[in-house]
Amino acid sequence: LHRNPGEPEFHQAVREVLESLGRVVAKRPDYIEHALIERICEPERQIIFRVPWVDDKGQVQINRGFRVQFNSALGPYKGGLRFHPSVNVGIIKFLGFEQTFKNALTGMPIGGGKGGSDFSPRGRSDGEVMRFCQSFMTELSRHIGEHTDVPAGDIGVGGREIGYMFGQYKRLTNRYEAGVLTGKALFYGGSRARTEATGYGNTYFTKAMLATKDQSFEGKTVVVSGSGNVAIYSVEKVQSFGGKVVAVSDSSGYVVDEAGIDLELLKEVKEVRRGRIANYLELKGAGGGAHFVKGGEGSIWDVPCDVAMPSATQNELTGKDAKTLVSNGVVAVGEGANMPSTPEAIRIFREAGVMFAPGKAANAGGVATSALEMQQNASRDSWSFDKTEARLAEIMQTIHDNCASTADEYGAPGDYVLGANIAGFVRVADAMRTLGVI
Ligand code: NDP
Repeated sequence: LHRNPGEPEFHQAVREVLESLGRVVAKRPDYIEHALIERICEPERQIIFRVPWVDDKGQVQINRGFRVQFNSALGPYKGGLRFHPSVNVGIIKFLGFEQTFKNALTGMPIGGGKGGSDFSPRGRSDGEVMRFCQSFMTELSRHIGEHTDVPAGDIGVGGREIGYMFGQYKRLTNRYEAGVLTGKALFYGGSRARTEATGYGNTYFTKAMLATKDQSFEGKTVVVSGSGNVAIYSVEKVQSFGGKVVAVSDSSGYVVDEAGIDLELLKEVKEVRRGRIANYLELKGAGGGAHFVKGGEGSIWDVPCDVAMPSATQNELTGKDAKTLVSNGVVAVGEGANMPSTPEAIRIFREAGVMFAPGKAANAGGVATSALEMQQNASRDSWSFDKTEARLAEIMQTIHDNCASTADEYGAPGDYVLGANIAGFVRVADAMRTLGVI
């Protein structure tokens, strides 16, 4: 704690993993002997930089940029960039720490990292976003590369921002290095199904988890928080599996549509107009049967459901929300976001016997498909949507089975938190051990 003051999210993420590791070190005292737990908690490198840019009024703005290169034992650092006013070094460290385990769980040759800025793209013009991205990349470009560190998107960073950053990287380095960023558009080396991958992946994972209790999405009522990249494609996949999504949200509130969220409308509001979730109602028209609840006047988790898929941000689902979900009969939770459930919420789900898929396993489909994008870039190939989605589905099933069998092996059947933490840790720790004291 004294080494990382004022970083509650980082402490929370580390504590959760350490709580799972007692059973491993009992079997493998060499992990203690080689200080693998201490080493894995310390990022290899942390970069913090100034991002100056000029807004549309000609005023100079200053933001702070971050890249935490957490662990490269398994491959180049890999993890997204987050642009949101709440970003600070503690948030990026928690995300980089989680990412290290998540990437290990995919079984692919990628290390863990994360980055971003306290810049908010919301309300900014296209030109402002471009100038910010160019300034951010001017510094970041010194630290990344296809064999070093490969950033992607996260909150506030989608195809538009990746495009501006790639353009600036190309200009600065005079290299068309497609593999330096993932989440690119198709024409310059992007992968089909990358946009959909995190939401689809969480849905595949949750489906596999439901199947262990002979259940499926068919006929189930589902609540998905958020309405960004992860949320939208969770809604799409849940609907294709026969589930009915009745609520989605953003930071201004949530919309309930008992008839089932109209996916095309949601995409129009969020992907085309970059609007607020209340605009869904305006487009649906009066008498459309949907209603909006303003932020602060209720929680999306008050909406009764069988399956909850928190897909917005960290600690959005509290102990109180978990109690409400349990009393409304929730049977499964699949985390699309990173660490969206508080430790108290996870404890309540565990005690109530609710199936719980932790983000570091359930949302790994995004980064796994980013690794497939790197694979396509390296071989100058471009796969079909079906081929890429089939690989994603297979990877998610493998991650699910690995977490489940690890939980069984360590005497905690059905505990996906323990299974994910141990399986991820063992892969990274074994690699670090092999590489010596690094
Ligand atoms: P987006 O920016 O596309 O969407 C984020 C959504 O969450 C928006 O609806 C946003 O609402 C809402 N949100 C963000 N912050 C808050 C907040 N503090 N309070 C309430 N609502 C909030 O991001 P993504 O969909 O890409 O990411 C969502 C989550 O999934 C994050 O935890 C991310 O780390 C995780 N994730 C994303 C991956 C990806 O491939 N994109 C991969 C793995 C994990 P508003 O617009 O009002 O801010």
